[in-house]
Amino acid sequence: MVEPGRRGIIDRMDTDVADQMIETLARFVDNDVLPHVRDFELDDLYPDAMVDQLREFGLFGATVPEAFGGLGLDVSTYARVIEELSRGWMSLAGVINSHLIAAQLINGFGTDDQRSRWLPGMAAGTLRGCFSLSEPDSGSDAAALRCKAHRDGDEWVINGTKMWVTNGERAGIVALLARTSDEPGAAGISCFMVEKTPGPAGDGGVTISKHIDKLGYRGLETVEMSYVDHHVPASALLGGETGLGKGFRWALTALELGRINVAARGVGVAQAAFDAALAYAQQREAFGKPIAQHQAIGFKLAEMATKLHAARLMVRDAAARVDAGERADMEAGMAKLFASETAAELALDAMRIHGGNGFTTEYPVERLYRDAPLMIIGEGTSEIQKLVISRAILSRAADKR
Ligand SMILES: Cc1cc2nc3c(=O)[nH]c(=O)nc-3n(C[C@H](O)[C@H](O)[C@H](O)COP(=O)(O)OP(=O)(O)OC[C@H]3O[C@@H](n4cnc5c(N)ncnc54)[C@H](O)[C@@H]3O)c2cc1C
Repeated sequence: MVEPGRRGIIDRMDTDVADQMIETLARFVDNDVLPHVRDFELDDLYPDAMVDQLREFGLFGATVPEAFGGLGLDVSTYARVIEELSRGWMSLAGVINSHLIAAQLINGFGTDDQRSRWLPGMAAGTLRGCFSLSEPDSGSDAAALRCKAHRDGDEWVINGTKMWVTNGERAGIVALLARTSDEPGAAGISCFMVEKTPGPAGDGGVTISKHIDKLGYRGLETVEMSYVDHHVPASALLGGETGLGKGFRWALTALELGRINVAARGVGVAQAAFDAALAYAQQREAFGKPIAQHQAIGFKLAEMATKLHAARLMVRDAAARVDAGERADMEAGMAKLFASETAAELALDAMRIHGGNGFTTEYPVERLYRDAPLMIIGEGTSEIQKLVISRAILSRAADKR
């Protein structure tokens, strides 16, 4: 049986259709992303034309059901889409990730009215979403968040500061986690869909209080957002009145999709690092032969290819389990842990193989080296994945008893 909250993820897609979509994306990456990414990335410029193309491909509605105008992709195909985009530029995967987490929350847990109100625009990419859980003083310990919402007649009034909001400026709707009661931890947290005018100035009581300058994952905005007596209508509470106190649990469910997204990004970045290393090792000569023919480099390539293959299989396995409606917390955590660490290892390996050239902005590996650590941090750090995995091991062992 498909678990609640997974509504809208269709049965497995026709493989031919999925393959064609990935081939189209591969051409887009080769022709329209890779030749330009360096300029956008180094200057931290938003890639409007590339994002328009993502919209044309329908990717803002990638996992939104067809009934609301989305592509209704299964998670397995979605993971392949993210991998392919990240082979070109990991930031492009970030443009749609938090948007789709917000859409997933609405689709899985919203009222009929909330679904029909927001999902069509989100699927079309005219209404952009973002996901706002983290705060300056709570990241891994997300349930310690302090942002508060209190009821005032027909409205909720929000106060607090949210950190690390990817796509926060351009978003027209924010999936915001806030405390609605004095109950400590997850039980007191609800999810609000906060509508705002996209842009740098903020809106009403919500402002973009800071743009965060980043090591990698550049080109798209990650911002701090402040809420001061910001009023939203009662209808902004996800799931209606019955959604009170359920937001945190729902967010964790939606983050499973986010974890698979980040794991797939890891595979894409690792693939890009491997491709660059292989090409360079065949072309660069030292001691009278291409460096690929020195056994140390050949073995390095062999290790890289093996880890890349393992990471890809783990991501595909986790995605297939989600598609089958199975419990996949452990597998998604394992895939995220392994694929993100693999991306970081392969980016450094690729840099070593490039020698001095790898340390310059003339070659793509320095960007991969800067982008890879985000996957180790975002959607739960590697340490948190180990907590998730170890808890799942113990709970599954208890279930067997
Ligand atoms: C570029 C970027 C974009 C982001 N985008 C978003 C977004 O769109 N929306 C959003 O809500 N958040 C977003 N985040 C936030 C991200 O999810 C958090 O940064 C992440 O969860 C880690 O939280 P933290 O930064 O507060 O680190 P901390 O929680 O302070 O962790 C610091 C260190 O302590 C370790 N640690 C913490 N607790 C434990 C424990 N129990 N056991 C062992 N080790 C532990 C961590 O693994 C880490 O190494 C983004 C972050 C970045 C960097």
